[in-house]
Amino acid sequence: MNAPIPKPWIMDIAPYVPGKSKTDDGRTVAKLSSNENPLGTAPLARAAFEAGRASLDRYPDAGAAKLREAIAARHGLDPARVIYGTGSDEVLHLAAGAFAGPGDEVIFVRYGFAVYEIATRRVGATPVIAPDKDYATDVDAILSLVSDRTRLVFVANPNNPTGTFAAREDIARLHAGLPRTVLLVLDQAYAEYLTPDEDDHGLEMAREAANVLVTRTFSKIYGLAAERIGWGYASAGIIDAMHRIRAPFNVTTAGQQAAIAALAAEDFVTASREHNARWRGWFADQIDKLGNAGLRAVPSKANFVLVLFEGPVSAEEAYKALMEKGYIVRWLPGQGLPHGLRVSIGTAEETQGVLAAIREIVGAAG
Ligand code: PMP
Repeated sequence: MNAPIPKPWIMDIAPYVPGKSKTDDGRTVAKLSSNENPLGTAPLARAAFEAGRASLDRYPDAGAAKLREAIAARHGLDPARVIYGTGSDEVLHLAAGAFAGPGDEVIFVRYGFAVYEIATRRVGATPVIAPDKDYATDVDAILSLVSDRTRLVFVANPNNPTGTFAAREDIARLHAGLPRTVLLVLDQAYAEYLTPDEDDHGLEMAREAANVLVTRTFSKIYGLAAERIGWGYASAGIIDAMHRIRAPFNVTTAGQQAAIAALAAEDFVTASREHNARWRGWFADQIDKLGNAGLRAVPSKANFVLVLFEGPVSAEEAYKALMEKGYIVRWLPGQGLPHGLRVSIGTAEETQGVLAAIREIVGAAG
């Protein structure tokens, strides 16, 4: 039978697998699978969202002028060089779409964010996978893979799903080692979870350099995942190219208004960061105490911890048993991590509960 034939590179894409929000038998349980903010959304942002829903019949501001101005004011940037997307996912796709195509290579790390591979293959470019250094980004491995065909390098910092962080010096070295024709996409979806002294200076690099794009999101610390708003910052030339392929009205009116209010809700952001640091530290310490059961926590600077199961109980067994006990975490066999579970930091109760459940599953005494 004749039928339209998808491009061969499209059929090479493994579909994105989102975090589950219900158990396989339909129960709603603690969702620690998508790195969302357990404290919810700042009240001011929610109020702005409600107000923004009033004008349903009108298109949103296609230029997102007020949102760009608010982002620029918050970070000391030029509003003309801010691009926005339906989640930072869209901004990542725009980068690949504008700068790579068939015959080109795009480099990212082995245990990286799944969208990099999708965005790369979608445009017919070839993924080039850099090995890790005990799960962390290895800048030298990335640099050694650069060829005449390299057009883009995607690096998430902190990285998902490992939570690992490359220090400012490493990011600077990566940039210094790349040809100026290669776009370095520094994905900072979790940057707000860092303390100011940990900042990797990505935005400073994007301000100065002609080949750096920094991406950020309102889905994580700002608690607006449902509205799908991300943004990026780069040189005027890069932003201009990306705008040409952006969907015209890609960020909703209510979303733009909520995001502007979320930027102003600094106390909420600080409380979210502090909650995360406290419970992430506690959770990782407790996991490391289960070392004799073969568990270990990969050091994380994000709002989740990758737990490795290297003992008698497998990550798959633990994943299923946790689901039974009411906790959905992320098992990532499709990303080369059949031995790991990524656990988002939840409320205090959820974090203590998931740890107690893990202890029971691996048979820890006490
Ligand atoms: N980058 C990384 C590293 C992420 O983990 C995520 C969320 N899973 C995103 C980008 C995309 O987030 P959003 O599209 O919600 O902005």
